[in-house]
Amino acid sequence: MKDLPVSQTDYHVHTAYCHHATGEMEAYVLRAIQLGFTEIGFSDHAPVRDLYDPEHRMKWNQFSIYVDTIQGLRESYPQIQILLGIEADVYNGFESSLIELKGTFPIDYVIGSVHFIEGVPVFMYEAEPLSDDEIRAFITEYFDRLIRGVRSGLFDVIAHVDVIKWNYPDRTDFIQTQAERLFQEIQKTGLAIELNTSGLRKKPGETYPGLNLIRLAGQYKIPIITGSDAHEPKHVGADFHLAKELLQKAGYTTCFRFRPALLAYRV
Ligand SMILES: [Zn+2]
Ligand SMILES: [Zn+2]
Repeated sequence: MKDLPVSQTDYHVHTAYCHHATGEMEAYVLRAIQLGFTEIGFSDHAPVRDLYDPEHRMKWNQFSIYVDTIQGLRESYPQIQILLGIEADVYNGFESSLIELKGTFPIDYVIGSVHFIEGVPVFMYEAEPLSDDEIRAFITEYFDRLIRGVRSGLFDVIAHVDVIKWNYPDRTDFIQTQAERLFQEIQKTGLAIELNTSGLRKKPGETYPGLNLIRLAGQYKIPIITGSDAHEPKHVGADFHLAKELLQKAGYTTCFRFRPALLAYRV
């Protein structure tokens, strides 16, 4: 089998602007250069016009500073391609802020994700005990929201699709069934998903998604990009060798450029 190249691109990188990451943006770029990467994409939590989850995102008027900082880093480090991305949440009414942001700034790509359902986190959280029906409804709602994000046409990539396994490690089969609904929608649109390595550093101890879902994504011919979800510079490119192994096991064989800047793996 042809050896799959290790990704030299990390498209999921946060900054201190979102209040829960540390380090100068320059330090993330320097780490990527140190690793020999050809590309890094910042994808900090997008600001919103309403009051949605202010603790985890930059303020609206900080976004132009974020953009200018990336522009300055591009000039300082021409040896690496630096992309301007964002990670944007799907929640009730998310569309208008995102449309305004995309219409105002030269954003290279948008990662869509769901972190909360009506204020309840979908991961990194000790959930209240729920009944079996409630758990199934919660997981179903999580995937419904991702599907709504896919159908909005506002995203290029869907992030950490099975992150909800954090709280429900014994619901693998149900999560897989729900993820298949999502992949069917993604397949219609040409979006990519991300292979996010941050789960290896956290309680689940495996990537988002795990191998079985990567295989399923392969069956649907869904392209995959790699992201570390770095919240500090040392996490840039973390465990990308393992990501490569998983992709290879799942039958991904080539890389290609995705819309038009992102380098994605393809079956
Ligand atoms: Zn996220
Ligand atoms: Zn993130």
